[in-house]
Formats: sequence, structure tokens, C-alpha cells
Amino acid sequence: MSKRPINILLIEDNPGDTRLIREMLRETMGAEINLICADRLSQGLQRLAKGDIDLLLLDLSLPDGHGLPVCVEVQERAPEVPIIVLTGLDDETVAVKALRNGAQDYLVKGQVDSRLLTRSIHYAIERKQAEKREKQLQQELNLSSRLASIGSLAAGIAHEINNPLVGVIGFSQILLAKDSTNGIRKELTIINDNAQRVANIVKNVLTFANPKPRGKESTDINTLIRQVVEIHAYEMKTNNIESRVDLMAGLPRTLADYNQIQQVMLNIIANAVQEMKKANGRGKLSITTRQIDNNIQILISDDGPGIAKHNTDKIFDPFFTTKDPGEGTGLGLSISYSIIKEHHGRLYARNNRNGGATFTIKLPIVGGTEKPEQVEADADEPGISVKARILVVDDEPSVCQVVKHALSNDGHEVETISDAAAAFERLREKRYNLILLDIKMPGMGGMEFYNRLPEIAFSLRGRVMFMTGDTVNSETRAFLQNSKAIYIGKPFEIRQLKQLTNKALTRNH
Ligand code: ADP
Repeated sequence: MSKRPINILLIEDNPGDTRLIREMLRETMGAEINLICADRLSQGLQRLAKGDIDLLLLDLSLPDGHGLPVCVEVQERAPEVPIIVLTGLDDETVAVKALRNGAQDYLVKGQVDSRLLTRSIHYAIERKQAEKREKQLQQELNLSSRLASIGSLAAGIAHEINNPLVGVIGFSQILLAKDSTNGIRKELTIINDNAQRVANIVKNVLTFANPKPRGKESTDINTLIRQVVEIHAYEMKTNNIESRVDLMAGLPRTLADYNQIQQVMLNIIANAVQEMKKANGRGKLSITTRQIDNNIQILISDDGPGIAKHNTDKIFDPFFTTKDPGEGTGLGLSISYSIIKEHHGRLYARNNRNGGATFTIKLPIVGGTEKPEQVEADADEPGISVKARILVVDDEPSVCQVVKHALSNDGHEVETISDAAAAFERLREKRYNLILLDIKMPGMGGMEFYNRLPEIAFSLRGRVMFMTGDTVNSETRAFLQNSKAIYIGKPFEIRQLKQLTNKALTRNH
């Protein structure tokens, strides 16, 4: 790859000093640099605004500016550009102050030779880049700890919402199935649809809070990207978005959850398409993959409006959105961020110099294959009807009511109980074909309940079907996997409850 020359802007009003610096630079750096000169501060600021300057050599004594304020103003206008202050012998104190204010180095006129100047330039660029890297890492660290605390709070709330949702979704579906002529079908459908929407948001929040990859497998990121682009191809075409895909040949595979990484790509591309379309009615999207050391780097660049400066810190926060209501929930990037973090990678966004935004994903290259976990029972299994005696143990009354109602309708004999310890005692006296057991309950939780069942009869464990709103919690997932019990995630559809109940009953027979 050919490197472009370093653009150095010299703001200096003394033609003699300018000539000297030019000659010194030519001597040691030659074609490596491109020197641009301005003899007024205003002219220099104008040139800086173009955004392609790599280093600034700044005289602090100019016709339209003098001393430290010159340095401060330049820094405000172009905080990214490293500055070397040029000063006279009698002005060294100002130069030292300039260093404290963020300049990278200073050189005293008359005491500079070409070797010193070259070294100072390389040093200033290197130091500024190191500062930038450090700042970026610090920002990522802050973001990561902020998101972790928001995540646990959000997960707690989301979890609480799941129980009442079972009641809303369950009863609206029971009523819908019951009567189609009572004149409230339309309203019931609206209740059900809206509750489903809430359920979806809750699911997203829980994924954000705990995006444990379900099944990592050896993944070809290039193939994944080709598929994602294909999914979006029609939408892009109709929105005048031109896409350019530059995928590195021979990119190594890595261990990743295919669906999750696909979700991240879809989120980022969908955002870019929306932003470009809204701003310009058209746009260019480019996706690049490269191997950099032991990482796969994916760059997704657009030529939209870029991320507004005051929002750069917020875009990964859950529920942060600049879109109109209904257009975005503000969860896409926060979920993407936690997914990539869970893959031990990095996701960050920067605005491009010439407009638009670039999202960078870095995934470590990891070998091997982890078999996808098979935890969730197959909800599509056709059910056969067995009339059974069922005990429902859940501390949430609305869940008990919905389950009782739905399963009684199928002819089962259903008892409900909200106190787990009391339920446990009841099992000593009475036998049930199936125990529907909530996992998170005050006092004795579902896991303890299950673990203690052999005190009554070991075979009772085979009669348990779990209900939980917490399937993304790693402890719960591990428990469910070990127990091999059938479980249903809250909130659930009545159809799904009936199917899984039948499945659990037939398994027991
Ligand atoms: P949503 O898309 O629902 O708003 P996201 O978390 O996906 O939620 O994005 C959050 C915000 O980040 C967006 O509302 C938008 O302001 C900003 N954003 C994301 N991608 C881009 C982009 N490519 N260009 C400009 N802004 C973006």
C-alpha cells in the first residue's frame, strides 16, 4: 500500500524562517512530506479546516494573533492535529505553557537543525497518536462499565415485566380463541399485538443484558457478510444505495455465533441505509474485511450525515435513538455492542473525514468448534392429547390463572399454588402427571425445588416442566441444560404452552 506524504502546515509570517524550515525538511524528509505554508493565523485556520493536515508547525507571534491564545484557538479548531510550537529565545515560557495546553513539543528558532526538526515531527505525531489511542481505550472502558450497570438494571426490570405479560398475552389469546362474534375481537387483537411488541422489546433488553452466544461454530465471516448484503440487496436498490464489498481472500474462519454476528451486521447496515436515505435520498455503503494480526476487522462505512458530535458518547446506550417514534427503539447498537464484547471483540464508531460514519468490528481469530447448545424444546412438535393432573407452582397469580385456564380448557385437571414450600408438601400427599414449575420464586426457588424432589421420589424430576422469564441468564441456562427438562420461556403463547405441555406429558408416559 503506498503511503501518502505527511501534510505539514507551517503557520509563520517570517519568510526567512519559512525558507529555512522548508530547506531543513527537504534535506531530511524529502518526498516523505508535503509542506503547506500560511503567513497569517486566519489563513492557517482556513487550511486546517480542510481536515487533511497531519502536523502543525506554529509560530506564536503572528500579525493576527499572539502568544498562548493562538495555540488554544488552533487546538479548539483542530484537536486531532499535533502541534509543534516555534518560538524565539525570549518566548520560551509561553512555549512551555503551550505544552501544558496540549502542544506536543516546542522548538526554539535559531537553535533548530534539520535532525532535531525531523525527530520532533516524528515524535509529535507518534505522541498524539498514542494519546488518541489511550483516550479511545478509556472511552471504551467507560462505555463498557456504564453499559454493564445499565444492563443489570434493565435485565431486572425486563424480568419483572415478563410475568404480568404472561397474563396479558395469555388472556387476550384465550378470549380470542373463545369467541369471535362478541364485538371486541378487534380490541383484543390490538391488546395481543401490543403485548407481543412489549415482549419483543423485553427479549431484546435481555439479550443486551446477557448476550451469551448460544452456539459458537467455526464461521466464515466473508460468507456471512455476503448473505447479509444479499438480504439487504433489494432494500438498498430501491433506496438508491450503492454497495461495495471488499472481502479479503483467504480470511481465516473464527469461532462465532453465526446468528448473533449476522444480527450485528444487519443492525449496523440498516442504520447506515436509514441515515443515508434520510439525509441524501441515496448513498454509498462499503464493507471491508481484513486480517489484522490475530483479528478479523470488519469496516462498515457510509456516506450519510455521520454521527452528531454530541451523540458520539451515547449511541451505544440502550434506548438512545434519534429516530422518530416507531422507526427505532435504540436497542440495535447496544445489543450489537454486547454481542461483540461477548465474543471478546471490539465495536466502535468514528465519523469519516469526508463525511459519513464508519463502524469497526474486531473479532479475535479463534479456532475449533463448539457444538451449538440444544436447550430449548422444539415448540413445533405436534401434540397428542392426554388428560392429566397438573400442578402449577408460580408466585405470580396472573401466570397461575392463565395456565389453569388454558390447560383446563384442554380437559386437564389443573391445580395452582403460589407458595413453593407448600407445593412441595402437597407433593408428599398427592401425585401429579406434570408439575409446571417457575424458576425464580421468593423463598424456595424452582431450582432448589427440583433438586430436593428425590426426598419425595426421584421419578418426580421427570415430571417437571419449567417456566422462566430468565432464559438468557447463564446460571439458569446451565441448570436447564443439565436437568434436560422441558421448559417454556415467559411470556409465552397459549399455543406454545399447550404444545409443550403435551410434549412433557407424552414424555412421561
Ligand atoms: P435505532 O436504530 O433504533 O435508533 P441504534 O442503537 O441502532 O438504535 O442506533 C442509535 C442511534 O445511533 C441512531 O438513532 C442514530 O442516531 C445513530 N446512528 C447509528 N448508526 C448511524 C450511522 N451510520 N450514521 C449516523 N448515525 C447513526
